[in-house]
Order: sequence, then C-alpha cells, then structure tokens
Amino acid sequence: MSDAKPRVIVVEDEPQIRRFVSDALRREGCTPIQAGTAQQGLDEVVAGKTDLVVLDLGLPDMSGIEFIRDLRTWSRVPILILSARSGEQDKIAALDTGADDYLAKPFGVGELLARVRALLRRHREDDDASPHHRFGDVEADLSRRIVSRAGQELHLTQIEYRLLAVMLANSSKVLTHRHLMQEVWGPGHGEQAHYLRIYVARLRQKLESDPTQPQHILTETGVGYRFQP
Ligand code: CA
Repeated sequence: MSDAKPRVIVVEDEPQIRRFVSDALRREGCTPIQAGTAQQGLDEVVAGKTDLVVLDLGLPDMSGIEFIRDLRTWSRVPILILSARSGEQDKIAALDTGADDYLAKPFGVGELLARVRALLRRHREDDDASPHHRFGDVEADLSRRIVSRAGQELHLTQIEYRLLAVMLANSSKVLTHRHLMQEVWGPGHGEQAHYLRIYVARLRQKLESDPTQPQHILTETGVGYRFQP
C-alpha cells in the first residue's frame, strides 16, 4: 500500500453536503476535490490519478447515470453514489450502469466513511486480484474451483458456484438483482429474481454459520446483495 493520500472527487451541487463529505474525507486521511457539476467532476477525474468518486445523482448539468456511463467507458475507478430516498429507481439504474455502492440521504458520517474505506480497500486489492478467498471458516480457490468449509470440501452446484464467484469478485460492492441474474444465468435473465433468492438461500445454508443471520452474503433490501468478506 502506497502512503499517498487517496484522491477522492466529490461531485455534488449542494455546497453544504459537498463540504460535509469533503471534511469527513479529509479527517479520514483522503484528499477531497470538490466539483459542483458533472462536467467539473469528469474533468477532475481526467486531471489526476483518482481513487474514488462520490457522486450525487441529481446534478444540474447531466444526470448521474450519464456521468457513470461516460466515466465507465474509460475508467474502473470506484463510484459511491448519493441518492435521495425518493430516487429508488435511479439508484438501481446507477448500480446497473456501473456504480459500486450507494448511500441514501440523509446519511451519517460513520456510514459514509465505512463505505469509503471498503471501496478504497477493494480498489487497492483489485491491483493484485487473487483467486484465493477466505471468509469466516470458508476457503475458496477459484483457480481450482474448490470451496471448503472448516477444511471439508463443499459440493456446490454449477449455479451456486457461479453465484459465489461473482460475489467474491465484487466483494463489498452492491450487486443488483438484475446484474447477478445476468452474470449467473446469462443475458435476458434479468427479471426472475425469485430464482436468485432460492440460490442465495442455498449458498447461505452451505456457507454461513447462521443462515438466518448472514454475516457475509448480505441482503440490500429492494436492490440486491452485497458480499462482505
Ligand atoms: Ca443534487
């Protein structure tokens, strides 16, 4: 890990929220760069090596979705979106377009910084993505397709394995129902979320110490799932 301060672009048109987020980031050891418009935000991402973008979805000059679509054509930088409570559909569309996580307004500083730390950690780990994962008493070796728990090899079906592999490759990230369905079952399978629920329940049964209180495969109500290592 380099000792350079993470550079975080805060794209938000409301000066009060922009300052609140920037102050919190500075206390966390980041270098926040404030942008009041989408265009200014994109210019700042181009201007220097960027570790994270905090993006308000309601901007005056461009929709947050357009911003993400534009950025994702050339950058994999993590994006944390800020959404109004009323903007449930916008939030899901933003995650489907390539945002990594979200916070609903109003949010607390603790919640904000926990999300920021998780995304920065993931961003650093992406540089040396390993096929080996360990969480709880589970070990997964994706290069050999072996998943074991407390030293015992587990039998996972093809679908269960694929679902787990997608979650492991995107840990700490919110994955929408549609995104998971398409990754696991293929294009055109974005709608039947009840299948997904069944397979998530089976995975929890096999991997979680208490499947009714999952510690790793977490539900994001109304949105999808998040894998927490
Ligand atoms: Ca706004």
